[in-house]
Amino acid sequence: KTFEDLGLSAELLRGLYGEMKFEKPSKIQAETLPLILMPPHRNLIAQAHNGSGKTTCFTLGMLSRIDPAVKTPQGLMICPTRELVVQNVSVMERMGKYTGITIASTADPKWDNTNRNKIVDQAVIGTPGKILRWMRERQLACNNMKILVFDEADHMMATDGHRVDSTKILKHLSMSAKAWQVLLFSATFNEAVKSFATKVVPNANQIFI
Ligand code: AMP
Repeated sequence: KTFEDLGLSAELLRGLYGEMKFEKPSKIQAETLPLILMPPHRNLIAQAHNGSGKTTCFTLGMLSRIDPAVKTPQGLMICPTRELVVQNVSVMERMGKYTGITIASTADPKWDNTNRNKIVDQAVIGTPGKILRWMRERQLACNNMKILVFDEADHMMATDGHRVDSTKILKHLSMSAKAWQVLLFSATFNEAVKSFATKVVPNANQIFI
């Protein structure tokens, strides 16, 4: 299996080969990318540890669903910590270097509490509390959202505030978006993660590696 087999754009292939220097999909990428990238764009619950190559799975998922010509948010990624936000923004910037897609992140000082501007970036990456505030204050419009990603869902569920905020984010999304793909990645699956996953990822394909 190669990245060419996945129907990726020339811009994304250039990002993968030229910028990331990847040669071929890792095991988890080979198993999940066809489901994520090819119609009907399946919902996915995947068990993945750091180092498995999971970031590429959902980053390609987001980048490939976004139309760079449309200047409104189309992909949303929720992460449990600011560090993970920074890390995932950096990977997406590199992988999507040739796509023209821009990213709004809750870790960017530009988006401090005084900034009330509407987000016109196509990808949005953040921690639950600030994403929820962006939604409530209508800075983040969700009517064009095509894909939602939860990274490290086990860490998300381990924090009470994050769990509550994530559920509220889903409520906001379901009020304005029509249909969106959901990808949930977690290293471990206890009862809390399982119950959240089955609630937010309907009709999911499940991949446990
Ligand atoms: P992750 O689990 O997503 O944090 O990825 C772990 C490491 O593997 C990162 O340094 C990635 O750059 C690298 N990596 C991910 N996918 C591939 C691939 N297909 N080929 C080579 N390296 C990869």
